[in-house]
Amino acid sequence: MSAGTIKKAKALAKDGVVMIDDDLFQVKSSSDPSKSYMVTSDSCDCQGFKNFYKFHHGKGLKANCSHIEAVKIFKSESVKKTK
Ligand SMILES: [Zn+2]
Repeated sequence: MSAGTIKKAKALAKDGVVMIDDDLFQVKSSSDPSKSYMVTSDSCDCQGFKNFYKFHHGKGLKANCSHIEAVKIFKSESVKKTK
């Protein structure tokens, strides 16, 4: 995970994540604010996520993207808040 992705994810977690259901989130695109992606804890419908499996299919790697990272940060932040 690159530092740039983490930085993007942190910014998105702050004001780009909307919780829809327990494991379903709507995350704004960082490059195009009019777009958003449907994200769960291990899947995302952005192009980067789809491409990951296209290029690394069958290698047992887990795809990741700034949106999934943002949801992870968002979740850990909300846990902190409710405690
Ligand atoms: Zn994504």
